[in-house]
Amino acid sequence: MQKELFAIFGNPVSHSLSPLMHNRAFQNLKYKACYTRYLLEDGKKLKDTFLKLGLSGINITVPHKEYAFSACDWLDNFAKRVGAVNTIILRDGELKGYNTDAPGFLRVVEELKSTKEILFLGAGGTASSSAVILKEEGYNVTILNRSKSRLESFKEKGFATYTWEDFTPKSYDLVVNMTSAGLNDNTLPAPKEILEAILKRSNGAVDVIYGKQTPFLNLAKEFNLPTKDGSDMLLYQGVLAFNLFTNGVFEFEEIEEAMRESFLL
Ligand code: NDP
Repeated sequence: MQKELFAIFGNPVSHSLSPLMHNRAFQNLKYKACYTRYLLEDGKKLKDTFLKLGLSGINITVPHKEYAFSACDWLDNFAKRVGAVNTIILRDGELKGYNTDAPGFLRVVEELKSTKEILFLGAGGTASSSAVILKEEGYNVTILNRSKSRLESFKEKGFATYTWEDFTPKSYDLVVNMTSAGLNDNTLPAPKEILEAILKRSNGAVDVIYGKQTPFLNLAKEFNLPTKDGSDMLLYQGVLAFNLFTNGVFEFEEIEEAMRESFLL
């Protein structure tokens, strides 16, 4: 059998850990495939590029998840509901699109016991798909965002939404930084006074940013809250994508073990 080729498309893409994660899992599970990164500047060229490179599947990162959604010939129901695709596989000549980010995040939340009331700081694409899946699974998600415009679509879906100006802090089982504040700078996702008023009443904090202690997680630690960064979300979305790439032949736990090793490198 010829070696299959997979890739991650994004712009920028050089920072992505996906090649390391997937190659390590291919190697450990003795699956004949290789995974690389591709700098895609123009999202409209996603489908042509995919086919020209002879790929079997891709992951898609910022800023192309919406383009990826429109490039697919077939969409998984959840991807259809959230309008964003981060995994595409080629099957029977068709590009099939899935979203594994939100199911990956759901798994992180499911591992935290006694969690029901959740506050999201941020209202971008990741917050949107994650809020939908959590709501479908019975969690209560409130959205707090810096500006108003992105809150409209959450309101239409039945979420309680606030900006910093009209928010009254209350207690939550989990507070999640869903913004990019702290990714390439040292900013907090909301004014410190608001965060302190929330964190002192809450039971846990998660940041979707991975690989660093963000100012948000540091602040949560000052209130002695249990904290978690975005590494497990990254791992779980990768495991779910790998499962699609390899046609479901491996168990989730088997892939997780094979892939988790890459986090030690
Ligand atoms: P988007 O660009 O779609 O949304 C960004 C959101 O962050 C908006 O709500 C924006 O608010 C808010 N925001 C940005 N900067 C600030 C700031 N300085 N202060 C307060 N709010 C701010 O981003 P994504 O949803 O694509 O990504 C969000 C985060 O999720 C990123 O850090 C990304 O790295 C991470 N991520 C992690 C994954 C993982 O596997 N761990 C997977 C996918 C994403 P406004 O509307 O006011 O502009």
